[in-house]
Amino acid sequence: MSTGFKGGCLCGQVQFTSSADPLVAGHCHCTDCRKTSGTGHASNLCVPSAAVTIEGDLSSYARPADSGNIVTRMFCPKCGSPICSHNNAMEGMTFFRASVLDDPEVYQPQMAVYRSRAPSWDHADPNIANFDVMPEGGPEQAIAEASFE
Ligand SMILES: [Zn+2]
Ligand SMILES: [Zn+2]
Repeated sequence: MSTGFKGGCLCGQVQFTSSADPLVAGHCHCTDCRKTSGTGHASNLCVPSAAVTIEGDLSSYARPADSGNIVTRMFCPKCGSPICSHNNAMEGMTFFRASVLDDPEVYQPQMAVYRSRAPSWDHADPNIANFDVMPEGGPEQAIAEASFE
């Protein structure tokens, strides 16, 4: 198995490569993720930004999350596909959307956060860790704990 993964947007204008495998991966049911997802949650995988190469133009939209941290979401300005996001409390990390992976099986969710905000039709996966909100300590802690599983 090779390390890392590739992906791109619907129109192909944006292409990205990560030389690292995901550190952590999970569904987020927060309202901001839902509104940019096309369904009840976003599926995100986190890698060190140092391992990431992105080609093409990206538009971005930044807004505070519940935590007060600023989350900047990047998307293709031509086709609108969400590509990745950054959190100002987690410098050096890039969160890619599973939806734009060339091989969607690279995404293997370990957890779901903000389950309490999920619509009734977006069912919980009993095989992963489900959190009503963000686990205490925020995404940093979630990543630290998931990494030691
Ligand atoms: Zn595009
Ligand atoms: Zn979210």
